[in-house]
Amino acid sequence: MSTGFTLFPAAKKEEYGYGVYDRVITNADLEHWFNTGDDARIPAEPKAVGFVHCVGSRDLKAGNSQCSKVCCITAIKQAMEMKEKFPDAEVYCFYMDLRLFGKKYEDFYINAQRDYGVHFIRGRVSEVSENIAGGVQVKAEDTLSGRPVRVQLDLLVLMAGIVNNPDNESIAGQVRLETDSDGFLKSRDNILSITESPRKGVFLAGACTGPKTVPETVAEARSAALAIHSYLSGLE
Ligand code: SF4
Repeated sequence: MSTGFTLFPAAKKEEYGYGVYDRVITNADLEHWFNTGDDARIPAEPKAVGFVHCVGSRDLKAGNSQCSKVCCITAIKQAMEMKEKFPDAEVYCFYMDLRLFGKKYEDFYINAQRDYGVHFIRGRVSEVSENIAGGVQVKAEDTLSGRPVRVQLDLLVLMAGIVNNPDNESIAGQVRLETDSDGFLKSRDNILSITESPRKGVFLAGACTGPKTVPETVAEARSAALAIHSYLSGLE
C-alpha cells in the first residue's frame, strides 16, 4: 500500500485569503511556477515576498495537530530560490519554530540568512488583507522582540502541510486495515515495523502512514520491497 498524501486545502484557513486575494499562493503553486513559469498571480518583479509556515499543520482548529516535517526546509529552499530570481526583493519567513532535522539542513538555514539575506520572523501571522497596491498587508507578532510587525508584500506563499489521502479510509476498509486518528494507515509498530501492516502479507510504504521526506519514502519503499521478497520466499 502506498496511497501517498494530499496537501492541506489552504482556502480552509480563511484568514490568509487563499483563493480570495490574487497575491496569495501556496508552496505547491510556487513550485509549479518554478518548473513551468506559468502563474499569472506572480508579479514580474516582486519587491517583497513572505512565507507563512505551518498552514494547516500543528493547528488544532484546522483539524491537524501534527507537524508536516518537510515544510520548514521547503520554505527555506523556496525563499532562497526567490532571492536568486529576484535579488533585490526582501524575503520574510514567518514561523512558530523551525523544525530542520535532515543532514545539513541547519547549514541551509544559516546560508539563507547570511548569504541570501532572508529575514526570519518568529511569530504567527494574525491578519492578511489586500493593500491599495494590489499586494497584501501582513500583520504578525514578533515573539522574540515582543513587537508587532506589519509588512507590505507583493506575494505571500502559504506553506500548506501534509494531510492524509481522503481515500485511505475506504481503501483500508477493502483490505481490512485501520486508519489512525489523523487518517493515515496504521502500521504494526510505528518504530520497529513501520512498513508492515497489522495484517500478514500487507505492507506499507511512504506517506500513507504519515508525513515523510523523500529519503524516508525511498528507504521505506526499499524496506517494504525486501519484506515482500522475504514473505514470498517463505523466509518469515
Ligand atoms: S515542518 Fe515546519 S512549517 Fe512544516 S508543520 Fe513542521 S514546523 Fe510547521
